[in-house]
Amino acid sequence: MTPTRPRLAGVLLVLAVLAGCDSKPADGPAGQPPTGLAAPVSADSLKNYRVVSRACQTHDGQPLRVFRTWGKAGEERVLAVNPQTFRTLQIPAQELTCETTPGPLAAQVANSPFARTLAAATAPPYLPANHGLTHLPTTQGRLLFTVDLCPSKANFDQAFFQRLTEFSQPDTPAGAAPMPAPKPVPVALAVSGHWMDHHPQELAWLQDLARQGKLAITWVNHTYYHPIWPDEPDEQNFLSDPRVDKARLLRETLNTEKAMLTRGITPSVFFRFPGLVSRADHVNTLRELNLIPLGANAWLSKGELAVDGAIVLLHGNGNDPLGIRRAMKLLEQRGKTDGFVSLEDALTN
Ligand SMILES: [Zn+2]
Repeated sequence: MTPTRPRLAGVLLVLAVLAGCDSKPADGPAGQPPTGLAAPVSADSLKNYRVVSRACQTHDGQPLRVFRTWGKAGEERVLAVNPQTFRTLQIPAQELTCETTPGPLAAQVANSPFARTLAAATAPPYLPANHGLTHLPTTQGRLLFTVDLCPSKANFDQAFFQRLTEFSQPDTPAGAAPMPAPKPVPVALAVSGHWMDHHPQELAWLQDLARQGKLAITWVNHTYYHPIWPDEPDEQNFLSDPRVDKARLLRETLNTEKAMLTRGITPSVFFRFPGLVSRADHVNTLRELNLIPLGANAWLSKGELAVDGAIVLLHGNGNDPLGIRRAMKLLEQRGKTDGFVSLEDALTN
């Protein structure tokens, strides 16, 4: 997996398009697709939310990288990623055995698809825009919609998501019975904390679609407040504004994770830079946080074409009508159920 280079000319279009912005799923029970959902975490227990990076294993020997912890001593819980599948899960710390100094387990985790992808997606050269994972390494004719939910006062694009769920129901020959079970459509939602605060019903509706097995949502961190300064040039805007230091990036990122956890959402290991605009020091911080920067190679409202293997970018926050129209058209051209792939599966298979 090699991150592709962005066309720098495209950078100049970012602000105009981004005027559209106002301002992993957990492993499910065996045999069931992951939903990315879990029981809500109390805000009280998140007061000591901490960044860690530990090599651990479950009692049945499954290696994990633990990257966040919270909760009282003796009742500590963790957020971890399965480094083979990229899927995240929340579990009690006491269900794990962790190395206190790097040993064979750390070496095993370090030599995993997750660790290799994280290293490649956060390596130099540091691009001012679209740094990181920009295309799917294995596709088999499929693509992925990534839908940004930046802060917005507009109604979200429910019709698009509704249309997407229609692809979860396999074609059935006339008269065939019984009706096959839905096959959830993979989609990555890049959510901002501020959008979640102001759109609780829409968020709950999306979570319901995951529970019903219609969508398999990868919950991508898109910062909390999604900083943007209208008068700044792109290269110095969003998180690349000089005012955004490491402490601000940590607040933006970790507070979004906490906002997900309190709403019963399990954060994935993916992060999307607002405007896709990034800076070397922030990319390095993401690596420390075990977060993979997620770019795109088919930003629909910029006129980029969604070929097979594309990471398609559009906004679902009501501010990207052109992107939504093109996405709807793209849906018309896809096969019924096998046209889409999740980030986790594309990176694993
Ligand atoms: Zn955004």
